[in-house]
Amino acid sequence: MRRSAAASHAIRSRRRLERDRVTVPGGARLLEGGAIAAEIRTAIAEDVATFTVGQGRAPGLRVVIVGKDAPSTVYLERILRGCDKVGIDAGFVELEGEATEAKVTATVRDLNDDPTVDGVIVQMPLPGTIRLRAVIDAIDPAKDIDGIHPLNAGLLRLGYDGFLPATAHAAVEILRRSGIEIEGRDAVVVGRSAVVGMPAAFLLVKEDATVTVCHRRTRDLAGHIRRADIVVVAAGRAGLVTGSMLKPGAVVVDVGINVVDGRIVGDVDFASASQVASAITPVPGGVGPLTNALLLTHLIRAAERQATDRQTGATAAQPGLPALSRGDR
Ligand code: NAD
Repeated sequence: MRRSAAASHAIRSRRRLERDRVTVPGGARLLEGGAIAAEIRTAIAEDVATFTVGQGRAPGLRVVIVGKDAPSTVYLERILRGCDKVGIDAGFVELEGEATEAKVTATVRDLNDDPTVDGVIVQMPLPGTIRLRAVIDAIDPAKDIDGIHPLNAGLLRLGYDGFLPATAHAAVEILRRSGIEIEGRDAVVVGRSAVVGMPAAFLLVKEDATVTVCHRRTRDLAGHIRRADIVVVAAGRAGLVTGSMLKPGAVVVDVGINVVDGRIVGDVDFASASQVASAITPVPGGVGPLTNALLLTHLIRAAERQATDRQTGATAAQPGLPALSRGDR
């Protein structure tokens, strides 16, 4: 019997997943983001090369950074290095920590108007004197590759395709690419922030999970988590979720990044959780590497879409978005 190309590909992917399967002493499968990110970067490099030949320039990313904030700088360097590897023209615009809101929004608008810039990221956190909303609103939704503009947030909420916040995208993509079944399963997302928790919850709903969102006022966090097949934790609290809170066999995605005694740890107590879970992401090395790779995917998509829009005369306010389907809801 001859197999279709798609079936053969699915079988090859499954075999590769089996071959690459890494387990930790408790028996849980380790869901590592690095290998998936490397695959994604290979695909991005090809798309970047095609774009560069077609447009006569590399796709461009600019990161706006306001003031010197140590974690932001590390994050920024990582993004720039990643871009360099795949041929993206990345750079940053650094403003003084005392920069006014008007200065920051004007900088963003200049980047919106620059035809060689395809994606704009404003590094958070911003100084307290600047209204986050004013800056977010200033970003051209067509260049908003980290999905923070209300238009992109609205598209996600409505079930349409738009730019997704990269971290939330990575939290769900690591499940999909690891062959973890999402459809019909009970998922709990711990954290309801606009950039991580809520978009991750909407994405899981889109993948047909039944989703509960927990937050700092949730009364019985352990009770909710114990019912979940999939637990995504994005709370920013080291050790918040322990093995005793999990249903045996649950799949755990730890988005948290915390520094404890000079070490980076997640929101999940890995030692106890990996004894109970069937699969778990490590911190570092889980969601983080995938976040960076997906951000670059968003950038090349933004560049391609804007190139098409320029040809067809679509505007940023009325972008010529590709034919988007809103799935069965
Ligand atoms: P945030 O502070 O904006 O939101 C935290 C959320 O967690 C809130 O909704 C809050 O209600 C909830 N929460 C806090 N304490 C809780 C508790 N005890 N019980 C239940 N819920 C609780 O944070 P954020 O920006 O969403 O980031 C969340 C985590 O993800 C942080 O650790 C951050 O560093 C990390 N992060 C990781 C990446 C990555 O690439 N892996 C990217 C961005 C953020």
